[in-house]
Amino acid sequence: MKATIAKYQMFNFNDKIAVAVSGGKDSVSLLQILAKLERRYPKASLVAITVDEGIRGYRDEALKIAAENCRKLGIKHHIVSFKELYGYTLDEIVKHLKIKGNSGPTPCAFCGVMRRRALNTAARQLKVDKLATAHTLDDETQTILLNIFHGDVLRIAREKPVTDEAYPKLVQRVKPFCEIPEKETALYAYIKKIKFQTSPCPYASEALRNDVRRMLNTMEEKHAGIKFTIFKSIEKIRPALEAIAEKEGLGECSECGEPTTERVCRTCQMLKQIKRDDRY
Ligand code: SF4
Ligand code: ZN
Repeated sequence: MKATIAKYQMFNFNDKIAVAVSGGKDSVSLLQILAKLERRYPKASLVAITVDEGIRGYRDEALKIAAENCRKLGIKHHIVSFKELYGYTLDEIVKHLKIKGNSGPTPCAFCGVMRRRALNTAARQLKVDKLATAHTLDDETQTILLNIFHGDVLRIAREKPVTDEAYPKLVQRVKPFCEIPEKETALYAYIKKIKFQTSPCPYASEALRNDVRRMLNTMEEKHAGIKFTIFKSIEKIRPALEAIAEKEGLGECSECGEPTTERVCRTCQMLKQIKRDDRY
């Protein structure tokens, strides 16, 4: 991981870093490793952020685990909730979708967009320089293929190991585990006896991602190193993708003022949809 951090110049010696900690094995391992590294840099500092989406029986357990890990490491833990930010928990959104017989976005689609926004808002309020997320090589390669399957190839240009400092309202995101297979982060957590959440999210049914995960794992078993090859291939063509993506430009959402490539950001679009349905 140190090689990845150095190669992509992810941190400066005096950075204030926020780690997104969900309570899963990857994020608690990242927190532990960054906490160790941070001790060597007296001018750097570390905080943790957990997003409480409002998933009863699941996120409550994860919050306790995240809090316990932070307490042990002496790291300040901040929690940001969907309910506070958006007025709805994810459970309420899912209930709403079911009542409306929704055949559109899945709970994960809502959750992903809103959690990303929540993390950025919290990181900005905490005035951190970097937001570190625990996306592994597995997550990265799955996302690359998913973006291709969804026909959203330009998104690949934006989802890089270190995001640009393109917009003051967007906190720079770094992914120190982007070249590390998930198996290794799990092994680290087991060896170090770090407590992490093992129960799956009740809404984890993103069918296409699951298919892609299975496919990549099968291929990796037969052709060792194939995930890394996909990741490196994208790194090679990223400049060309970025040159095309640049034309999209980043502006401000006309509703909430947050950065977006559209007139109204996806979070506002989703909230509008829920509120509009609620009126009928
Ligand atoms: Fe959110 Fe889906 Fe992850 Fe559950 S599995 S926390 S709904 S993104
Ligand atoms: Zn908006």
